[in-house]
Amino acid sequence: MTDEATEAPQAAPAHDAGRMERIVNLAKRRGLVFQSSEIYGGLSSCWDYGPVGVELKRNVKDAWWREMVWSRGDIVGLDCSILMHPRVWEASGHVAGFTDPLVDCKKCKVRFRADHLAEARCGLTPTRRAGDCGGELTEARQFNLMFKTFMGPVEEDANVVFMRPETAQGMFVNFANVLDTARRKLPFGIAQTGKSFRNEITPGNFLFRTREFEQMEMEFFVKPGEDMKWYEYWKQERYEWYLRLGIKPENLRLREHASDELAHYAKGCADVEYRFPFGWSELEGIANRADFDLKQHTQFSGKDLSYFDEEARERYVPYVIEPAAGADRATLAFLVDAYDEDEVEGETRAVLRLHPRLAPVKAAVFPLMRKAGQPEKAHEILTRLRPHFPVQYDQAGSIGRRYRRQDEIGTPWGVTVDHQTMEDGTVTVRDRDKTTQERIHESELLPELLRRIAGA
Ligand code: ATP
Repeated sequence: MTDEATEAPQAAPAHDAGRMERIVNLAKRRGLVFQSSEIYGGLSSCWDYGPVGVELKRNVKDAWWREMVWSRGDIVGLDCSILMHPRVWEASGHVAGFTDPLVDCKKCKVRFRADHLAEARCGLTPTRRAGDCGGELTEARQFNLMFKTFMGPVEEDANVVFMRPETAQGMFVNFANVLDTARRKLPFGIAQTGKSFRNEITPGNFLFRTREFEQMEMEFFVKPGEDMKWYEYWKQERYEWYLRLGIKPENLRLREHASDELAHYAKGCADVEYRFPFGWSELEGIANRADFDLKQHTQFSGKDLSYFDEEARERYVPYVIEPAAGADRATLAFLVDAYDEDEVEGETRAVLRLHPRLAPVKAAVFPLMRKAGQPEKAHEILTRLRPHFPVQYDQAGSIGRRYRRQDEIGTPWGVTVDHQTMEDGTVTVRDRDKTTQERIHESELLPELLRRIAGA
């Protein structure tokens, strides 16, 4: 099933290709990300998050939900089904227009996106450009990116349904439901995280472009006329979210779309971009979609999706500002940004300098020796920490080696039980980034680590 041969390799600046490869290797070696269905040769463009990676991605989504829903009074959450009424995708424009232009190289049989030819590489000689093998490129034809399936046992056209290509439509079609039940006044937002599917022509660059991925989207409904103010607000908020979680400012930028890049209904659109080893690329788009979506669904469903503004005593269709992010792309950006190599005690170490909120494991507990009651003491400490956050226990190998294993998965603190612990109840806490150690009493350990995670 793997269709690697038909996919165009993505260009990567030579000096950074090695770095990306080392990150992908570390991800596999330490249980962050595995190729999907690996024992069957892999299914291209699909990835599985391992025991460590699942915690990282979950932390990314939790940080988004905390910021977008819990910490504000004006946004509520939603969890919609992936399969929706086919008319939804007619109204949204996806049936007619969710297409990419596709060209084939007649010689090397590789498929390219006609609008990405500049970055595409020849299938026979990846150091060269598309078509450089002498093969003729076909005329571009439009290819719809939606996955189709059938609802019920009969595979006929009347039963076709689509795997959603975005989560956003769930928020629009539930606009009236939320308005009625959550007793909301404008401005307010609806947020959702969940899987989306796109039959991408050229997936690649690890988690960056896949055919099954998770989105984190929010639709913020506002009064027409106040939309540009909120558009500016959300651009700034979303840009700063990545910085607050530790992305280096020199690797992040906001890029406003030129007017010829905008959808016909959009009043503005900007991307938060990250400097990946393969170049600046979109992490999230923030768009002022005006009243396009609610009007389309009003027209196609025949249901009124307008809003009565009690204060202004007028009825109108709200405008919407949409910050649309990808959970997998964000996870990849946090991973790439955190990856570092330095020298500790004469050895090169790989370390993930992840923000403590995002770190998959918050603390590791080690007995210095496998005797003198130290393993038992370490387990006692572990049992106390376990209900609060993910922790690991390790007694194998030298203490340096154990620290290094935790550095590779970004564990911020290493707690060691040693001879002195047995005498005065203090443990050493080693900091992942500074590699320094301090002694604190074991009774202080949990509150201290909780304080550090919350305050970081
Ligand atoms: P691109 O131009 O990279 O195809 P897009 O502009 O089509 O992305 P949107 O439709 O705005 O993307 O989707 C919002 C977010 O969903 C993107 O910013 C990205 O983080 C994520 N996303 C979209 N497509 C994919 C994909 N194929 N794989 C992983 N994440 C994706």
